[in-house]
Amino acid sequence: ATPTSIMVGTGRGAELGVLFRKGDALQTLAEVDTIALDKTGTLTAGRPEVTDLDVFNGWTRSDALRLVASVEAKSEHPIATAIIRHAEAEELSLAQVTSFTSQTGQGVRAEVEGHSVLVGADRFMTLEGVSLAAAEGRSAAWGANGKTPLFAAVDGELVAMIGVADPIKETTPKALKALHDAGLKIAMITGDNKATAQAIARTLGIDTVVAEVLPEGKVAALQKLQDGGHKVAFVGDGINDAPALAGVNVGIAIGTGTDVAIEAADVVLMSGDLQGVVNALHISQHTMRNIR
Ligand code: ADP
Ligand code: MG
Repeated sequence: ATPTSIMVGTGRGAELGVLFRKGDALQTLAEVDTIALDKTGTLTAGRPEVTDLDVFNGWTRSDALRLVASVEAKSEHPIATAIIRHAEAEELSLAQVTSFTSQTGQGVRAEVEGHSVLVGADRFMTLEGVSLAAAEGRSAAWGANGKTPLFAAVDGELVAMIGVADPIKETTPKALKALHDAGLKIAMITGDNKATAQAIARTLGIDTVVAEVLPEGKVAALQKLQDGGHKVAFVGDGINDAPALAGVNVGIAIGTGTDVAIEAADVVLMSGDLQGVVNALHISQHTMRNIR
């Protein structure tokens, strides 16, 4: 493209709330055949709500929730925020915690009132030797409904299973349809549970799903697509998306996302609406068509 057409495209982007941070992103985007998107906060609102709470081994809902929320008060994950809001709605007063640690994409742990408390994904519990046998049937049902099942253990024993649901953004289905209509393949790449991710992907008509991956796993999944001869754009919002945004052919960050994601991206959308991806694609195709 000529410097002039790049300037015109960049300017048109600015009008539509699409910031091309690098001139070559405008060119590369026109060649993209696959759009990969993060789930939480990108396809979905990123504001999960607690929808279900089951307890085990004689625990009451309020005792279990109080310990879980006390630990989550130290975490900044959207899941933590949902659990704390839920505990606040039940007017539970939180306990002091010590030795808090967080394991990316897995869960959190801390000492509370002399007990060791774990909260996180099924794989985290399995790794820590907590039996989930009592929860299996219901956890599968929640996943099939697009809810994320989380587990809590106290001193190695399962005490609660918490269902969390994050609504799909109202604007997502229309934007994905436009991308499909433009002939692109759509992939979802997420750290969330496989069953949950697959249920949401099915609802949205997404072509492929990579789930239960850590930030480096997102990079590897994108590299695999690129190694297969695809030109790929990745859309994400979180700290956990930053390596993927930096490594992919075209990284697109959601402007409502974290600073770390925005810094790593080639293109930044001013709003959280995925119509911005469609606009970016159209501007780039138009710019490149004009110079041929
Ligand atoms: P995503 O790619 O969907 O943004 P993350 O990598 O942030 O997902 O998290 C993946 C999974 O790790 C969550 O679905 C949850 O099971 C678990 N997890 C992460 N942080 C927490 C937390 N603070 N409390 C409970 N579970 C957590
Ligand atoms: Mg996210």
